[in-house]
Amino acid sequence: MNTPFIAISNEELAQNKTVGTHVICKNCGHKHEVKYGTSRTLKDDGTYTESVKSEMLGYVKCGKKTFLVSFAGKEI
Ligand SMILES: [Zn+2]
Repeated sequence: MNTPFIAISNEELAQNKTVGTHVICKNCGHKHEVKYGTSRTLKDDGTYTESVKSEMLGYVKCGKKTFLVSFAGKEI
């Protein structure tokens, strides 16, 4: 099975515009709400902290598909 990956340079990312609450979908052309997941941190005792909202990765739902649309607040 192939493992997908993306690579974005810091210089490239810096030139991208700041993501808003909605983006125009590159799949269908309609406007979708940007959604975010959560993150948690592994503690020294091997357990995790509570999950907190993280805006590191933004995504949209388009039909049954999910598309990554932002990284660290910048559109990709
Ligand atoms: Zn769409």
